[in-house]
Amino acid sequence: MASVLIALGGNVGDVRTTFRKAISHICGMAQAAMIARSSDYSTPPWGDEDQDPFINACVEIETDLDPHALLFVMQKVEQKFGRTRNKERQWGPRTLDLDMIAYDDVSFQKPDLTLPHPRLFERAFVLVPLAEIAPDRVISGIRVRDGLASVSTQGIERLPDTG
Ligand code: ATP
Ligand code: CA
Ligand code: CA
Repeated sequence: MASVLIALGGNVGDVRTTFRKAISHICGMAQAAMIARSSDYSTPPWGDEDQDPFINACVEIETDLDPHALLFVMQKVEQKFGRTRNKERQWGPRTLDLDMIAYDDVSFQKPDLTLPHPRLFERAFVLVPLAEIAPDRVISGIRVRDGLASVSTQGIERLPDTG
């Protein structure tokens, strides 16, 4: 079994409900076990600031799927929840974005998949939820809690549990 960290994001529709359903679809389709799930966070938009705030979260799952098979599942789930990649602007509004942050200690760069995710340590909106579930994980040689300590978390707010 591989341990995989996945970051979720979205700012269109009922994102928290989308997250809940998306996680359950991923686990079903990838025959994966959910190991940990962060809280949901409201975060300022990144890269393209002219849009609504995002909601972000992270999960850890365990799966036997290889990285590309898991990416395929994640893209199917994005589509199921209304993601229409060809109509979007880069880093613009979307219903659901699923990024593979890390897959065990696998490291490679291919046209359709780079592991670990190359922009992780620039992004407080990923590091904050990730540090909640995997503070001591070392990714690309950096401990998650140390990565978090070196970015500004301004504007990021933990959302109350929905129960
Ligand atoms: P960013 O990758 O900067 O967060 P984005 O999530 O907005 O940007 P997308 O349009 O969702 O970008 O994805 C673009 C492509 O990134 C996907 O088609 C996918 O093949 C590729 N990709 C490369 N590495 C990864 C990864 N680790 N996780 C998910 N997708 C990846
Ligand atoms: Ca992304
Ligand atoms: Ca993505």
